[in-house]
Amino acid sequence: MFFRTYIRHPAVQVCIKFNIAPAKGELKLTETYCPNCGHKNQEFYAICAGCGNPSPMSEFSARLEDTAEKDRERTRTGIWFLIFATLLSWIPYLNILGFILGAAGVILIILSRGTFGGNHYNYPVAAAVIFVVGTVIAFILVLSFATDIASMAASGSLTVSSALSALSSLYAGIIIAGLITGLSYVLILYALEDRFGRILAWCGFAAQVVVISVATLVTYSIVKSGMVAALSSNPPNSAALASVIAELNGIGYLKLLDAIPVILFAIAYWTVIRRIDRNEIPEIAVGVAP
Ligand SMILES: [Zn+2]
Repeated sequence: MFFRTYIRHPAVQVCIKFNIAPAKGELKLTETYCPNCGHKNQEFYAICAGCGNPSPMSEFSARLEDTAEKDRERTRTGIWFLIFATLLSWIPYLNILGFILGAAGVILIILSRGTFGGNHYNYPVAAAVIFVVGTVIAFILVLSFATDIASMAASGSLTVSSALSALSSLYAGIIIAGLITGLSYVLILYALEDRFGRILAWCGFAAQVVVISVATLVTYSIVKSGMVAALSSNPPNSAALASVIAELNGIGYLKLLDAIPVILFAIAYWTVIRRIDRNEIPEIAVGVAP
């Protein structure tokens, strides 16, 4: 019996190239002797001519197909988690639930990425790293702003200009941190998206940049004028601080703009589920055909 093999899995190709066993040392892909009865078969046989047992090769490919099916299902579940996480991310209090769901979704996507070819092996990992970096940067910025202001106040060097320069670098940093985390939203499923999904993801990124910049600049100008008013007298004018808080509450509607990038990202992610269901994403397939 002659068989043509259709083997595209990189792991299998490496195994064939170096004639090594692909798993736990029990398989040899170019072995022509049946491991069960010792009959000498043609290379790439599917069923032993001596005893009728399936060859290790066909068992191996069946096992990979089984893994591929599970990976597709896990990726699908992970993407649904990610969609819910994205939609919850701008709603106060529920965003914590969203964060947990999102983390679970990213872990599922990363664990099941091996079945899909190309860049999808690296992009979800890169996205997770970029997200962590962006979050850590934002955290450090807020922390260093608070400690700067506190130490300037303690040493008596807190002036309008020193407070404003600390504030402007905080807000510039928040915009940059927002750009970095926004990139991770684009990257996570980018390799699995078609042209339409990728355009949606970049639109989500652009919308996020605009929304963060607008919200940050509006907040900055309110806080800036409040700071100038509060620090212009000694002791600081507490009524000016109260009016800053009232003004910041007044622009709460800006938070609604966050829904725009969130919805664009969610639809971009959903297109990947649709592609998986329609079999449009070529998984790394292994098959033995006569
Ligand atoms: Zn045999």
